[in-house]
Amino acid sequence: MIITDQQGRAIAYLLHEIRPDWPVASLVSLIDKHRDVPSLGALTIAAATKAMERTCQTPAPIFHPGPHWPEAARAQLPRPEPCEDHIGQDAHNCRSCWADVKAGIRPQTHIGKHHEAVSEDAASR
Ligand SMILES: [Zn+2]
Repeated sequence: MIITDQQGRAIAYLLHEIRPDWPVASLVSLIDKHRDVPSLGALTIAAATKAMERTCQTPAPIFHPGPHWPEAARAQLPRPEPCEDHIGQDAHNCRSCWADVKAGIRPQTHIGKHHEAVSEDAASR
């Protein structure tokens, strides 16, 4: 279903009440970009669950697939974007990209995005 403006704003205000550090305006624009959801109830549960996670810094992960969505809704979530560099991995949490970041060969801004690694060969030329 596609949620309405009013429903999107209602969720934005609810989330802001739970997480005062998440501004209403950015919640509204985030929700606006992801209006196709399994149901309003499923989105409310997923959003409130993420808002209650202290380790969750920004609201963006609400729309990633995961256990914060009610089980029945998970199959209806849009498929996540694939990683541009690693087949079979999702762009938003590609494990291979994170391994590269930890190894210092990929900037953290390029998780899930194509990154041309500078080989030692090219650097010494
Ligand atoms: Zn990757």
